[in-house]
Amino acid sequence: MNKHRMLVDGAWVDAAAGEWLESINPFTANAWALIPRGRKADVDRAVDAAKKAFYGKDWRGLTASARGALLRRLAELLATEADRLAEIESTDNGKLISEMRSQLHYVPKWFHYFAGLSDKIEGRVLPSDKPGFFNFTREEPLGVVAAITPWNSPLLLAAWKLAPALAAGNTVVLKPSEHSSVSALAFGELFEKAGFPPGAVNIVTGLGNEAGEPLITHPGVAKIAFTGGDRTGQAVYEQAARGIKRVTLELGGKSANIVFDDADLDQAVNGVVAGIFAATGQTCIAGSRALIHRPIYDAFVERLITLAKTARMGNPLDLSTQVGPITTRPQYEKVLEYMQVAKGEGAVCLLGGGPAQRPECGTGWFVEPTIFAGVRPEMRIANEEVFGPLLSLIPFDDEEEAIRVANSTIYGLAAGVWTSSIRRALAMSERLEAGTVWVNCYRVTSYMTPFGGFKRSGFGREGGMEAIREYLQTKSVWIDMEGKTANPFGLR
Ligand code: NAD
Repeated sequence: MNKHRMLVDGAWVDAAAGEWLESINPFTANAWALIPRGRKADVDRAVDAAKKAFYGKDWRGLTASARGALLRRLAELLATEADRLAEIESTDNGKLISEMRSQLHYVPKWFHYFAGLSDKIEGRVLPSDKPGFFNFTREEPLGVVAAITPWNSPLLLAAWKLAPALAAGNTVVLKPSEHSSVSALAFGELFEKAGFPPGAVNIVTGLGNEAGEPLITHPGVAKIAFTGGDRTGQAVYEQAARGIKRVTLELGGKSANIVFDDADLDQAVNGVVAGIFAATGQTCIAGSRALIHRPIYDAFVERLITLAKTARMGNPLDLSTQVGPITTRPQYEKVLEYMQVAKGEGAVCLLGGGPAQRPECGTGWFVEPTIFAGVRPEMRIANEEVFGPLLSLIPFDDEEEAIRVANSTIYGLAAGVWTSSIRRALAMSERLEAGTVWVNCYRVTSYMTPFGGFKRSGFGREGGMEAIREYLQTKSVWIDMEGKTANPFGLR
């Protein structure tokens, strides 16, 4: 079993306490790697290194274009390693190799895009109401950024934070999920090769309470970029408030995929299945509620079940597998528990509803793709994030009702609308309370597009021009052009 080390100040180190955590392959339920169990002492060293790098001439002294060139070199190295990193991720978190490969081949584009923005960060010259004064703004980096990521898309979500943070001139301490840290550590090897100075990027592995908490409470951290569950996000936000730190929170969701009777139903049925069963439902944007227009409800549900039944489960490293295991044992138990919750609330199980006991699932943590009908908007199963392959079906009569039900949860991450009417597409996209609305598609994201939540799904945006602003602060500079600051006790 490989024993990995953490990246602190350009060096590969063990945890100060000399302890390790097992990383488990969810397909076999066996440990396959050891990661350092970092704690406060390790976090302190990493933040100190990031701070030193932030003020050091090797980083701060770089021109913005040179910073962009480093990011571009990193992107090129990353592209050559994409397949290897995808295999690590698939082994570590059980997500399909086909999906991890496409994610990992896409990640370099994030670094290329933000590399391009690094020397386009401009201040403004402002008109002045004070004659004789020259006033302009500068956009400056914040300092040390703490990037904390979940287990489901480890490097993609790290790139969403690191690319804009570094492009803006910050330094970073990354704390990946304890369930999927191995790819981040392999990624860490590329920073030195790309020419980043020691300490510009540090990676500390460990548990949320042991490594994550000391990181977000560290006084040397200026900004926290967090992706994870909404309860953890709330704790992070509360801690950040004590230190008056900036925060970006990308949290959970309970997204509605809304199918109207005028939709292309071949497309819609594929979109609803992909929305919930791709990635075994373990994505923040999972379309876990299908709202179906009553005139097509029965026929659509029949097609949905016919298609969902064909899902091939098995080894995530096998290219033909369509639904993989659940990443962690507690998460596996949580998904099974929600199946009982749904049944207890009176929902009718149309497909699945329990653990998958197919031979191709081996000893892994698999649950059957599951569909519940008879779900009412007030049920727990219609409101709480399950993070598994569990779909709730809710019929609706008209647009008003669809909007009311779609917007009735505490979350607001994403929504899908399936219709052939442009009027309806625009009206729905205006009224849906979600950071992303997909019309006749689902799960499309891009480095050029802002992504983030409404309501309890969080705030701040990752991707696009908006993302780089999350890592900058504005300074106003006043210059007296006429030397008239004669009044010693008054403002001008
Ligand atoms: P999680 O909240 O349990 O953990 C996320 C990260 O936070 C991990 O690195 C963990 O170690 C760390 N952490 C835990 N407690 C902490 C603490 N007290 N202080 C600091 N750090 C702490 O989430 P998870 O189970 O790894 O991931 C699943 C969740 O992530 C889901 O709710 C999902 O919706 C969400 N998610 C959101 C997005 C998005 O972009 N909105 C994307 C992917 C996943």
